[in-house]
Amino acid sequence: MADHGTVYLVGAGPGDPGLMTARGLELIAAADAILYDRLIPPTALEGARAGCELRYVGKRPGKSAMRQEQINDLLVELARAGRQVVRLKGGDPFVFGRGGEEAEALAAAGLRFEVVPGVTSGVAAPAYAGIPVTHRDAASAVAFVTGHEDPEKSSKDSASMPNPSQSSKDSASMPNPSLHESTLDWEALARFPGTLVLYMGIANLASITRRLVAAGMEEQEPVAVVERGTLPGQQTVTGTLADIATKVAEAGVQAPAITVVGAVTGMRDALAWRERQPLHGRCVAVTRARAQASGLAARLRSLGAEVVEAPAIRIVPRPIEGELASHLESIGDNSLLCLTSPNGAELLFAALAATGRDARALGGLTVAAIGPGTAAALAAHGITADVVPERSVAEALVEALGDVPVEGRKVLVARAAEARDVLPEALRERGAEVRVVALYDTVSEPLSEEARAGLRRSDYVTFTSSSTVTMLLEALGPAEGLPERPRVVSIGPITSATARECGLRVHVEAERHDVEGLVSALLEDSA
Ligand code: SAH
Repeated sequence: MADHGTVYLVGAGPGDPGLMTARGLELIAAADAILYDRLIPPTALEGARAGCELRYVGKRPGKSAMRQEQINDLLVELARAGRQVVRLKGGDPFVFGRGGEEAEALAAAGLRFEVVPGVTSGVAAPAYAGIPVTHRDAASAVAFVTGHEDPEKSSKDSASMPNPSQSSKDSASMPNPSLHESTLDWEALARFPGTLVLYMGIANLASITRRLVAAGMEEQEPVAVVERGTLPGQQTVTGTLADIATKVAEAGVQAPAITVVGAVTGMRDALAWRERQPLHGRCVAVTRARAQASGLAARLRSLGAEVVEAPAIRIVPRPIEGELASHLESIGDNSLLCLTSPNGAELLFAALAATGRDARALGGLTVAAIGPGTAAALAAHGITADVVPERSVAEALVEALGDVPVEGRKVLVARAAEARDVLPEALRERGAEVRVVALYDTVSEPLSEEARAGLRRSDYVTFTSSSTVTMLLEALGPAEGLPERPRVVSIGPITSATARECGLRVHVEAERHDVEGLVSALLEDSA
């Protein structure tokens, strides 16, 4: 057994990537193989190692899914081969996830396994809809029920129990004879002194509600159905046992959805926090380089938006050789250093570090940053910029440098290879000896099919620099172009001008030319 691998039955939570557990993420990052289902968060596998084997074992449209027995066998086989295996399931692995059966198979084979519980959708979807499944005043108990099978399909006096071994939408069904004949006790459920939470019942909602009423529950009992809980596009429909099935059909609700029956659903009026977030239901495309996108993406998500990552550019640092190397070598000879982007600031310190130096190399220099973002990047390396204009444009920096003596002095402008010459020209005019060094190139990033589809569905597309505009349009190609629908949000006047030159209409322009400014402008537009 010592040479055998371990199988981790990991719950991936209900869909919001933020609801994955720390332990789950750690195991995904270390796994040799990951077997996963359909209802896992879209980004769940991003942390897997490059060599990790990823296997989808859930349902595929039009194809037969892997049978549970085959999945069990595969888990055993991989573990016997000494692999560290993550079996990744939506929600919690032991709540209607057939994780119990997989654990049994591993135990029977004498293999090591661990269970990593996940946030189950039956608690999380209601929570995101503003429904606490228990509450001191409204429910002291909660029952998790599977609604997978149509109760009216079975014999009159004993409705066939939705069989947990047949219930997962995510993996194939293996009839389990010992459980097949068991029944859901509708009378007991109708009398249950608390909240009922039904998984997988959306297709059978009409018969389930009828059955509960027939078993003695009030027709006016309140019900809420939460579709795609915790995910972008979460939708909640409320009603009573009498009318919820009609309302749900009218709203076009589809799986995955959770049905909550009980008085707690009424709390939603006061507590529906998620659906009231300012950008809930809005889809926003982020075109900045993947490495820089996370701050903007996280901020938009925290406001409830669905974020489509469609990076149009990539930053490629230049090798530190030739002219760049000699300029950096003699950086201390300058009297003024100007940095015109956060990337430039980051890469300058990376370049210094690569030659065994650090912030002390800038000891005697006046340091100017084009704006607050660049100043923050400098500050992260211990340098407080001496000059920072409020607006992050070259013209503003030229103005802010008005009082700094430059005549006859050496000035180094460290920046992207492709950039405007406003700053060096203005400094030369004032008699400075200006040298410009390119720390990096901005190159276009090909667009994935997923990003293209995301752009088509977006309500907004954000541009944080001129190069994001030109390179996104280049990647889309003249035939496709930018879809009509999204409103164009620009970080500032230079980016807007480029967008207009490219034939785009700019709907929103940030007043402050940084991420926060861009987000505020977008919020104002969407209000
Ligand atoms: N193990 C999972 C449940 C698997 S059964 C868990 O603990 O959550 C699949 C059912 O879970 C779906 O039919 C649906 O009822 C529910 N479900 C999963 N994700 C959901 C989501 N994001 N919103 C609403 N219901 C969800």
